[in-house]
Amino acid sequence: MFGPFNALLGLFSRDLGIDLGTANTLVYVKDRGIMLAEPSVVATDTHTSRVLAVGAEAKKMVGRTPTNIVASRPLRDGVIADFDTVHAMLSYFIGQVHGELPIAARPRVIVGVPSGVTEVEKRAVHEASLQAGAREVYLIEEPMAAAIGAGQPIQEASGSMIVDIGGGTTEVAVISLGGVVVSHSIRIAGDEVDEQIVDYCRNAHNLLIGERTAEACKIAIGSAAPGLQEETTVVRGRDLQTGLPRQVELTEGQIREAISGPVTEIVENIKLALEATPPELLADVMEHGIAVAGGGALLRGLDKRIEQETDIPVHIANNPLEAVVRGTGACLHNLEAFREVFVAENAAPYV
Ligand code: ADP
Ligand code: MG
Repeated sequence: MFGPFNALLGLFSRDLGIDLGTANTLVYVKDRGIMLAEPSVVATDTHTSRVLAVGAEAKKMVGRTPTNIVASRPLRDGVIADFDTVHAMLSYFIGQVHGELPIAARPRVIVGVPSGVTEVEKRAVHEASLQAGAREVYLIEEPMAAAIGAGQPIQEASGSMIVDIGGGTTEVAVISLGGVVVSHSIRIAGDEVDEQIVDYCRNAHNLLIGERTAEACKIAIGSAAPGLQEETTVVRGRDLQTGLPRQVELTEGQIREAISGPVTEIVENIKLALEATPPELLADVMEHGIAVAGGGALLRGLDKRIEQETDIPVHIANNPLEAVVRGTGACLHNLEAFREVFVAENAAPYV
């Protein structure tokens, strides 16, 4: 009889749900809630390969490092390009959370991975989680976790559409009976919007700005549809002609125009997913609406724009940046009930 032993282990460990995002990593601790939310950034010394900083500390270094230090985002494009950096990042975050708990046995861990990652990449996340101290590892596709976190009835015989707009990828999925029926993923999301703002400043104002400045400008005045009040913001950078510092005031309309390319692609991707959705499920989606999660959901007017182009009601999830990790948290509380939603190859733990 190992029941009592398992129960005892449960008392001493705190199971974790992790959203390993291209821009941000969040960790949910069972019975406690979200205990960590930091940028998915790692700073490494290129001479020694030593990891110098992870998370918020490392993000501060982006664009500001001396030549021997690189601040990189190991999951930038939604793929795991570099196992060692992902491992360093996971170990740091798991250690950070687990170290704060009074008694810490090895936890069970649920990790959200982008849909469409390869078997090799899944294996890499699995291995990295085990090496980082996990006792058992379960993988869940991010759109599934986002749908659960956004409160969609994913286990019912009814279609739910979820759109997750992150930093590196936009994922659209239709879910029914606990499975992903339609899935569309593109590598165009928040980062691409930032890049368009950098390009616009260079081309229209002869001003070179950094990607963090572009992101701040997007958060301040970015929009996907005209609003009631048109705001402005000031960005600072280098004048490309004189080489000297200069600042420029930008309007909401200019930025909306500058970012229209990626915004249109995101909306087109949603339309493609709708076209691929079987009619019965499409009828459900029309009735219940489209749920939007991920940081990109916070772009002003995006809900209005998607509604106009699809004729389907759109709901932005509460705290869209937290939807995926809250979804993994819900699974932690009821591993048995959610067993079917874990990625098939990893339904049974490898350990
Ligand atoms: P990921 O899951 O890929 O890590 P997130 O869901 O954490 O991504 O979202 C990060 C993206 O959301 C970034 O591109 C960031 O600039 C964007 N973002 C965050 N807040 C806002 C906002 N208020 N308006 C527009 N975009 C935002
Ligand atoms: Mg995400």
